[in-house]
Amino acid sequence: MSIQIKNIIPAIHSGFEGMHPGVAIDNVSIDSRSLQNNSGTLFFALGGQNRDGHIYIKDLIDKGVLNFVVSRIPVDVRGKANFFIVGNTLKALQDFAIYYRQLFDFPVIAITGSSGKTIVKEWLNYLLGPDYNIIRSPKSYNSQVGVPLSVIGINEKHNLGIFEAGISTVGEMEKLQPIIRADIGILTNIGPAHDEGFSDRQEKIREKLKLFGYVKLLILKRNADVEKELSHNIKTFTWSFGEDADVQIAAQHDNGNTVISVVYNAQAFDITIPFTDDPSVENAISCLMVLLHFGYSHEVIKERMAGLYPVELRLQVKNGINGCTLIDDSFSSDYQSLKIALDFLEQHKTHSKKTIILSDVFQSGFETEELYAKVAKLLSGHNISQVIGIGETISKQLADFPNFFPYSTTQEFLSHYKSSAFENETILIKGARSFRFDEIVVFLEEKTHETVLEINLNAITHNLNFYKSRLKPETRIMVMVKAFGYGSGSYEIAKALSHQKVDYLGVAFADEGIALRNAGISTPIIVMNPESSAFAAMAAYNLEPEIYSAKELKAFITVAQQKNLSNYPIHIKLDTGMHRLGFQENQLDELIELLKNNNLISVKSIFSHLSSSDMPDYRDFTLDQIGKFESWSEKIMEALEINPIRHILNTSGIYNFPQAQYDMVRLGIGLYGVGNDETERKSLETVGTLKTVILQIKDIEPGESIGYSRKFISPGKMRIATLPIGYADGIRRGWGNEKGYVTINEKKAIITGTISMDMMVVDVTGIDCKEGDRAVVFGASPTVVEMAEALGTIPYEILTSISQRVKRVFYKE
Ligand SMILES: *Cc1c(COP(=O)(O)O)cnc(C)c1O
Repeated sequence: MSIQIKNIIPAIHSGFEGMHPGVAIDNVSIDSRSLQNNSGTLFFALGGQNRDGHIYIKDLIDKGVLNFVVSRIPVDVRGKANFFIVGNTLKALQDFAIYYRQLFDFPVIAITGSSGKTIVKEWLNYLLGPDYNIIRSPKSYNSQVGVPLSVIGINEKHNLGIFEAGISTVGEMEKLQPIIRADIGILTNIGPAHDEGFSDRQEKIREKLKLFGYVKLLILKRNADVEKELSHNIKTFTWSFGEDADVQIAAQHDNGNTVISVVYNAQAFDITIPFTDDPSVENAISCLMVLLHFGYSHEVIKERMAGLYPVELRLQVKNGINGCTLIDDSFSSDYQSLKIALDFLEQHKTHSKKTIILSDVFQSGFETEELYAKVAKLLSGHNISQVIGIGETISKQLADFPNFFPYSTTQEFLSHYKSSAFENETILIKGARSFRFDEIVVFLEEKTHETVLEINLNAITHNLNFYKSRLKPETRIMVMVKAFGYGSGSYEIAKALSHQKVDYLGVAFADEGIALRNAGISTPIIVMNPESSAFAAMAAYNLEPEIYSAKELKAFITVAQQKNLSNYPIHIKLDTGMHRLGFQENQLDELIELLKNNNLISVKSIFSHLSSSDMPDYRDFTLDQIGKFESWSEKIMEALEINPIRHILNTSGIYNFPQAQYDMVRLGIGLYGVGNDETERKSLETVGTLKTVILQIKDIEPGESIGYSRKFISPGKMRIATLPIGYADGIRRGWGNEKGYVTINEKKAIITGTISMDMMVVDVTGIDCKEGDRAVVFGASPTVVEMAEALGTIPYEILTSISQRVKRVFYKE
């Protein structure tokens, strides 16, 4: 890409203020964290409730970025760069994409529908890849931001585009249509997803069809509701399981495969795909339609469709051997997704040493040498310590790259490399599917039993933003990551949040804070229950103590003297009614005396904790706590003439008493997806899903017993499954004996008999399942809230009880 500034101004309808009107830009960014930002970058400062791009401009200028699309010029950067001033920066990004798209003229396929968009796109890329240089949306980039970014990836060498578009409400599709400008449309299906954004199903259909306003051909399954909305100018190419379509289909399952019988143009033939579920069969048929339209022979269609594979789109973070962290992206290798994966690596690296295992890179549209020159530039920009290249092409092309280790095949790498060669590093494993890098992942992954707690990092961000949306923009946020991040993994959560404008982290003990510092977390940290024996270590690790008594304060002052500290931040805790830790009213004078004229320490914040913010019955009590906090903190502030941060709200406090948000709030359980209030819960996303697998299935006869103490006697013939999870993993015994259940293949399987230390048995009579299938112990169903209620406890206890032997796996969509 090379676009002159003078062409950008009319394209995005902007004003201009700057010094270098002669220059050109060669890439576009919306992410201030990307190490790929450089002097050729055009940075769009997008707004957003959690991150306003304008606040990063100063940093970006320091890093050499020169060109910014803004809705206002922050005062401190005026005159230091080129600014394109627009009313709405998102619209400007879209306008830029529209302009950029019309510079290219090749066939483009647009895909929309309620589900299957990404799978159809990935499969088409696989099916057509041998014959075209394809540009496609990376991952599931199908939103108002994702679609323009996808299109901006086009270059001169591409000769086919495949883009997906997703909408959640009225008015969005007409913005995406001119960006994609499709020639061929595919409508996958119309289901209930996002119904809430539309007045009815018909409106949603009309809205989706706007993507296809100017297509030359629309591929769809016959559907009367859709067809009545179609303009007569649109030529359709339809399929159905009946006889009334251009392509007639019959499907039959056969031993894990589906045989699809096709009748088209009076010719009949069969293809076989390695899937049996209905959505996969329909998605495969959508792809088949494109191949038929493109005129592929029956033989080629049969051969390529037999190779369809499950599409995995998440970048997964996993624990590796020898203290390594793995980022598993073992299913694609193209230039666009390499850029995304490197940014992901930068945000999720756990170690300063970064290794990448990379296969040949495909379908970039560039000539080989130019492509690998670009790859080398990306890698060196990201300070990758070591590159392992697998494949004939990359082995030659990167031969001169520093610390480059070439292998021709994955097998060659696996047979030569010793596992001891990797230690305490973050390893990005990125390869095209054909390289079978999943085998490398197996080799490098830490081996533990097959129960995992999956943590959805997107849900964490979503939940944080939900609470932010209920606060004033200037209110600071402290995130509680005590107790191993409520069982979810404190380091990974802290890391995931480090770019989200979280002002403080809260831990219970000094050790937890030290572990975070050792892992490279630099966000300010408050230690809630500091013991005086840990004060010196806390000062060494820059951890800030909660001060709750005069005795503790004196002890800390002594350490501050010994260590020559000055103005060391401390946090004063007031006991307004919880009666655990904190100063009471009659102790305030002594506190003030101790703090007066003391330069060793500095009161960074004053806070208190609500005992019953989730309980409407105790509303008056809470208001009384808030009232005391107000007057006591005022007293301290006046006496000392200071203006510290004040904070009193926890999760339920934010929800129920936003008027008391003061300068900061302390978010805990809500971040992890559990609200104490039912309506609050609806706005949150599930963060943790505890999964295990079926180890063994067996049939038992009437009258037989299951488990210890013969607590369960089978009433009839039953099929049962044994799962390798028990009370030592943190599942309470009270959840057994038919009280609780797990979910297997979307069905409830009741826990029969007593839960043992490492195992439990569930009833799978009538459930279609086999050994090795996954069982959800909690997550979407049952929820932790549901479990807690049945067990007479609270979700906090369920979450924090999950044993450390259960592996945590973090992922981002
Ligand atoms: C744990 C804790 C919180 C967070 O409480 P949630 O109910 O999980 O939001 C806030 N403040 C203090 C002092 C805490 O110990």
